[in-house]
Amino acid sequence: MNSEADRSGTLGRRAFLGTASASLALMGVPVQAAILSNPGKVLEVGTPGTINKQPSVFLTRDGRVAATVVRPVEPTVLSRMAEERITSFVKRHANLVLPSLEGSTTLSVRPPTNLVVLGTPKSNPLIAKWVEEYHIELEQAGAEGYALRTWNYPNGTCCVLIASNSDKGVFHAATHLTEFWLKAEADSVAFPTLSTDARPAIPLRGTYNLACWGLAPRYSLTDWKNVVDAMAEDHMNFVLFWLAGLFRSKRFPESFIYPETPLTNDDIHVLIKYAQDRGIRVYLGSGAFAWFGQDQIAIYHPEAREIGQSVLCRTLPASRRIVDDYLSELHDTFPEADGMYLEIGCEGDYHCRGPLCQKFLDEFGSKQIGQSELSFLREFSEKLWKRNPELRFFWPIGYPEAHAWDVRYYEEIRKHMADPRYYWVEVRQNWQLPGAIGSLRPLNQLSKNVLHWDQYYRMPLLDIRDQARRVAEAGISGYAVAYEPGAASASVYGDRIPFPIDLLPYRLTRFAYREFAWNPGLSWNEFRARVHKKFLAPGMSQDLVDIMVTLRDFMRDGPASQPPTVGVNAENLRPRLAAMEAEVHTEKGTSLGNPPEGVTLIETCIRDLRAAYHIE
Ligand SMILES: [Zn+2]
Repeated sequence: MNSEADRSGTLGRRAFLGTASASLALMGVPVQAAILSNPGKVLEVGTPGTINKQPSVFLTRDGRVAATVVRPVEPTVLSRMAEERITSFVKRHANLVLPSLEGSTTLSVRPPTNLVVLGTPKSNPLIAKWVEEYHIELEQAGAEGYALRTWNYPNGTCCVLIASNSDKGVFHAATHLTEFWLKAEADSVAFPTLSTDARPAIPLRGTYNLACWGLAPRYSLTDWKNVVDAMAEDHMNFVLFWLAGLFRSKRFPESFIYPETPLTNDDIHVLIKYAQDRGIRVYLGSGAFAWFGQDQIAIYHPEAREIGQSVLCRTLPASRRIVDDYLSELHDTFPEADGMYLEIGCEGDYHCRGPLCQKFLDEFGSKQIGQSELSFLREFSEKLWKRNPELRFFWPIGYPEAHAWDVRYYEEIRKHMADPRYYWVEVRQNWQLPGAIGSLRPLNQLSKNVLHWDQYYRMPLLDIRDQARRVAEAGISGYAVAYEPGAASASVYGDRIPFPIDLLPYRLTRFAYREFAWNPGLSWNEFRARVHKKFLAPGMSQDLVDIMVTLRDFMRDGPASQPPTVGVNAENLRPRLAAMEAEVHTEKGTSLGNPPEGVTLIETCIRDLRAAYHIE
């Protein structure tokens, strides 16, 4: 890390305006981050406001353009988004348009203005040239990390290198650069010189997206595109997108239970491409033997149920054939998807209670149903891999009511389902699961591909951080969170179509997830500093951050939130909302121009809480 400048060949150490070691010290990277960064070097992009003493790289100066963007030769959606992050900041704060040029190695000789060069070694020849010349160890950045470097030329111009192995990583870098480092002053836009490497601590980040519950089936293609945009902004890379019940099956028309849904198959094709273009893999979500649509199929097929049971049996051949047919049709309708998420209905007594499935297999408590479920997954996935070997399968585990004592269930996964295309989503807060003799073993000994799952919108922000830390510490590969406003939203907005993802409380929930899943080592104060930099204007009181966090809690806690919990009421809210309103009003007066996003978030939240609790 700290030998970057020494090895920089042509430029030599002195030409670098900032070295890795210097910037690391200034960034105040918390020790925990380094410990949790396994594998990898540095997770951090720095703490805003701690590096101001360094000389600046100007994008605009004295009211004039001072830099040119050097973009990839064949731009993609993500590389355009990355470029747009930077140019729209300049446009918004300086009302100037940064020019851009296609990447070329000839630009490296005496550039006439500062250069902001972004891309991958494959997409931008200038990135390829400099990564090689300056020995930038880009392989350390992994799939989504990045390297940022700045240096100067003898003629005084500066170069900024934003390099990654993927367009997704370039987008992450441009976002961090814009939100945490770029600074707008009276007549200039600039950022401090820096040299840093960053990568996310948790490789798989995304949502369990419950499209089929409550009012969510009424969302249009546009509504879902907005959700995908938000996920891209939150640096997520997968979505488990529930389609059963919404999917217009031809073989099982009774399974299409949401005639109110405007989503057609064509819309879903568009949505899949839209997400994939933004670096988000799409897994088709459905129950297996259970849930929306399949419960309706069960009504018409008594031969697929054990006697006295209302749900599909996991063991009867007739039932397995039906579920295979339904899921195969779903896959074949959207073969461009990256795989499937199959939610086996293991909760409560919502699984087959018949004697075939409930047969004990040993004295530990293992049952046939566990073996039947896994053998179905194995047979089904092996069939689909013949059509597309790239497909991945996500499967929820950890239900205590179904498998707490079922040692064979987990042993089967450990021993016979190590294929790297299986992903196991732990959905019941287990951090250990039983081994062969019933002793609990760490999650990462079950498989390399385990994800933890949370309903993050219900959680205090600091708990999101702590859960992300546990994921990193457990050495598992992902953190999936539920986006399910049709089922629950922990806010007063549960009945809105679409649910407002850009208002409190969700705006802050999203931001916390993005920051903590990238770097679970962040301290609470470092996080507060980031909220300030992202949502408020420089110089505004830090109190406004605490007001945002508190308003989010008011949204979560009150009886008007969905689901309702005990907590706030109108009498308690009235004086607090009034006092917060007075403070935000005063602070608003300190900033010129349009109020920053945080001010609008606070004002809107106060207004909507008042309406929900009938506060005059
Ligand atoms: Zn059964």
